[in-house]
Amino acid sequence: MPSSSASDSPVPLLAQHQHRALLRTLTLALACLLAACNRLDNPVYHDQFFAFGTLIDLTFYDVDPARAKQASRALEQAFMQMHSDWHAWQPGALQQVNQQLAEEGQATTDPAMAALLQEANRLSTLSNGLFNPLIGRLVALWGFHNDEPPSGPPPAEDLIRQLVEQVPTSADVHVDGKQISSRHPAVRYDLGAFAKGYAIDRGIELLQEQGIAHAIINAGGDLCAIGRHGKRPWRIGIRDPRKPGVLASIELTGDESVFTSGDYERFFEHEGQRYHHIIDPRSGNPAGAVVSATVIHPLAATADAAATALFVAGPDAWPAIARQMGVEYVMLVDREGRIHMNPAMQARLIFESKPDTIVMSETL
Ligand code: ADP
Ligand code: MG
Repeated sequence: MPSSSASDSPVPLLAQHQHRALLRTLTLALACLLAACNRLDNPVYHDQFFAFGTLIDLTFYDVDPARAKQASRALEQAFMQMHSDWHAWQPGALQQVNQQLAEEGQATTDPAMAALLQEANRLSTLSNGLFNPLIGRLVALWGFHNDEPPSGPPPAEDLIRQLVEQVPTSADVHVDGKQISSRHPAVRYDLGAFAKGYAIDRGIELLQEQGIAHAIINAGGDLCAIGRHGKRPWRIGIRDPRKPGVLASIELTGDESVFTSGDYERFFEHEGQRYHHIIDPRSGNPAGAVVSATVIHPLAATADAAATALFVAGPDAWPAIARQMGVEYVMLVDREGRIHMNPAMQARLIFESKPDTIVMSETL
């Protein structure tokens, strides 16, 4: 009777050897296939860290996980450094600039800081001073130079008036190389309305240098997206300023930033009234007419400055300021819940539920 046992015949032995080789090849092929499937099934890499007082959320699409991790660590380090260098009230490079300007009317800094301040001044001029990064003294008076929002009451009116009478403008400061000069004793840089946007632009540059072409850097709802989410564009949500959830969503094509300034981010209530952190430099009080302003622009720095400026500008003045700042897409929500926007913005927004009132501006 022929044996089928492997040990008693060279033929089955050879077959077993081949069988093992085949099995190894198949196992390897299966592992490769699974890895490929895995990558296709889950080509999204997520990471998070804390900087600029908010959660920074990273999403990369179709990036090798090791490279993604490396890029994300580099980004975290860069954000930590920028956060401490540009902090408005903690010791760091910006505070040194503020101190030197206050004491001597001039300051020497590094080229990166000089470029940041020059861009802030440029955008401030374009916003007619509604985005004013020199009003650190007013922001401090309102108690917002603190990790936690203040508890109130609001500052005395005569103190506010004194600071408003001396509000510096971008014409009072001059950046030349690494040299900054000021002809106004009240100049105190506060980059709270701008630093996050400028940092996101630097972060995107860093990712692109690392070969990452499809990504979102999201800093607490303010974000810049590059590339695509595979075959489809990135789709993001704009927060509803008055209830949890999304007001509208939008598809981002190409490299675009979406920034929102809202009265719900940092505020205190006193005797039934809300006092928030976006100050109208003309009155010295929190800007009162709108509850949120959303801007889309290729650059995060411009989007950040413009969202703040258009929040202050309010429902009537915003189109003129948007044009000056080169912003093409704007949506404001006013205190009555009405939506103010331009036709190009409306064409891109997908509202969760149809807004009751839309006030449409002329084409920007
Ligand atoms: P968020 O930080 O919530 O995104 P903004 O970008 O509008 O909102 O920044 C608000 C911060 O900017 C304030 O906390 C303050 O530090 C500073 N700030 C307040 N009012 C102005 C203003 N009119 N121009 C420039 N900076 C401002
Ligand atoms: Mg801003």
